[in-house]
Amino acid sequence: MANAQKTVVVVGGGVIGTMHAVLAIKAGHLVTHIERDQVPQSASVRNFGLVWVSGREAGAELEIALRARQLWEEIGQDAQIGFRAQHSLTIAQSEIEFEVMSGAGNLADAEKRGFEVLSREQVMALEPSLLGNYRGGLLCTQDAAVEPSMLLGGLREFLTKSPNYTWLPNFEVVDFYHDETGNHVTDITGAKVSGELMAICPGAAHKGFLSEFFEGAALRKVHLQMGATAPTDTPLKHSIADADSMRYYPAFKELPLHLLPPQSDLAAELKMQLLMVQRLDGTFTIGDTHDYVEPFSHEILEAPYEHLTQVMTNILGKPSPQIVRRWDGVYSQSTSKDIYFRKELAPGAVVVTGGGGRGNTISPAVAEETMIEWSAL
Ligand SMILES: Cc1cc2nc3c(=O)[nH]c(=O)nc-3n(C[C@H](O)[C@H](O)[C@H](O)COP(=O)(O)OP(=O)(O)OC[C@H]3O[C@@H](n4cnc5c(N)ncnc54)[C@H](O)[C@@H]3O)c2cc1C
Repeated sequence: MANAQKTVVVVGGGVIGTMHAVLAIKAGHLVTHIERDQVPQSASVRNFGLVWVSGREAGAELEIALRARQLWEEIGQDAQIGFRAQHSLTIAQSEIEFEVMSGAGNLADAEKRGFEVLSREQVMALEPSLLGNYRGGLLCTQDAAVEPSMLLGGLREFLTKSPNYTWLPNFEVVDFYHDETGNHVTDITGAKVSGELMAICPGAAHKGFLSEFFEGAALRKVHLQMGATAPTDTPLKHSIADADSMRYYPAFKELPLHLLPPQSDLAAELKMQLLMVQRLDGTFTIGDTHDYVEPFSHEILEAPYEHLTQVMTNILGKPSPQIVRRWDGVYSQSTSKDIYFRKELAPGAVVVTGGGGRGNTISPAVAEETMIEWSAL
């Protein structure tokens, strides 16, 4: 970490930007944190709040997720963000799903991930509310969760305790430049904010003042549909996934996935899996779908919710709670071998985005990589 105090500007009030602000404040810098909206409204508040180590690809991606998991634990003690070391259970509903899943217990990094393949009886012993028709499950003890509705506000509450932190919402950056005095951003009125160091964390805002910079970048946007149920009296101590998630998470790519029967046309077309996280208020956040082709539809489709409801009902062994809210979200995803997108815009100024569906998970470790880079300047 840097010893000398520097002036730092962070653009973007999502989780990647806010984690940059947190680690920069912890490193002793003077931070101005810019956000175009009154309160951030993008991917970071629309997600499951999962710190999802289980699905990460073996190697560098798993390592950054594990480092992030440690940092989450620390930050969760500093700030009211609803952090909890809530393990996950991936549920195999059929014999063949269970057979494929069983290989996960033998992966070289299974122990690092805290993987354990469980029979139905063992799952029920851990999670007595899962009374449905399933064969077994995969426990991951490295997974955790935060509350998306508390996360960014909770981190800013922690940050504003420091006299070194300034929050600047309603400031839409329209230009960036670098000169001998440092790095500068301006809004449409010409108001300027300057710093020796700058992290621009715009999420999926690939256009606007950065469009030239993003031209040809290995990035894409992904559109998802989500929902929330009414509060339920079904207590769940674990985050739940269905076995379709094994098709999409790279952690499982060495397993004999070809043995799995095809998904339904709908689930295959929308690349669906069930993820279900109980919020602190007793509701379930559920999802999701994936659309990789722009322009995305502005419509929220009903059919995916019917699919998710059926899967939930089968796993819970009783009618799933009613869905009372629906929303969509877009994230920015790196399409290269890089886990996320990081590029220098000018000396001391970096753009960081593209964390994809693991952006929340890895965010503190991504910010830490920026701090390490800055400390060498
Ligand atoms: C539905 C959904 C579910 C997901 N579930 C999970 C999950 O459970 N676990 C996980 O690890 N990841 C998950 N993700 C991915 C994760 O949410 C994202 O990768 C992460 O939130 C991205 O954070 P970010 O800060 O880069 O972007 P964002 O959250 O999009 O924040 C970017 C911010 O920058 C601001 N901004 C942009 N341009 C400007 C400008 N010109 N001037 C000022 N401000 C600007 C925006 O207003 C915005 O607030 C999910 C994503 C979605 C959409």
